[in-house]
Amino acid sequence: MIKNLRNLKVKNIKLNAVIIKDFNEDEIKPLINFASEIGATMRFIEKMDFLKDNLKYASLDEIRKKLILENFISGEKAPPKNSAAVYHEQVSGKGKVGFIMPVSKPFCSSCNRIRLSSGGEIKLCLFAKKTLNLREMIRQGKGKDEIKEILIKTAASKLKVPENYSQSESMSAIGG
Ligand code: SF4
Repeated sequence: MIKNLRNLKVKNIKLNAVIIKDFNEDEIKPLINFASEIGATMRFIEKMDFLKDNLKYASLDEIRKKLILENFISGEKAPPKNSAAVYHEQVSGKGKVGFIMPVSKPFCSSCNRIRLSSGGEIKLCLFAKKTLNLREMIRQGKGKDEIKEILIKTAASKLKVPENYSQSESMSAIGG
């Protein structure tokens, strides 16, 4: 995969990595260097406690502050509008580095994301228990305008913070 990424001529790609304590924290700098080398943006994602697995949480806010102190990355850049990530630049290279920190720096109040699963279900939040079944609506023969109205009403009911941070489905099933 590394070889394929090096050969890839596509611009503006983002590489995402979830950081697990005592597992891949030592890969952070090499990943930033690699992304910089191929002209990609490296983004690190904080582990969320889905399905109560045994993988250990690592605070990305602490990690990025350490990288700033070490002068490996710059201070925080002004975030793009509605961005889930906080961006920095690699000091010794041309890499751009993003941190997505739903636990140590939650961004729920500005979250405007909704998800559509492969089964046609719309979820307003990774932790939402209720879904809207788009596939069923299409199968029932609802028209575009009717579906659009339902979608707008549903999106408007998105909560500013989840009711609780528990989920019985895996992240991959939700499309997170
Ligand atoms: S509102 Fe839900 S999907 Fe959005 S950031 Fe918060 S937990 Fe994640």
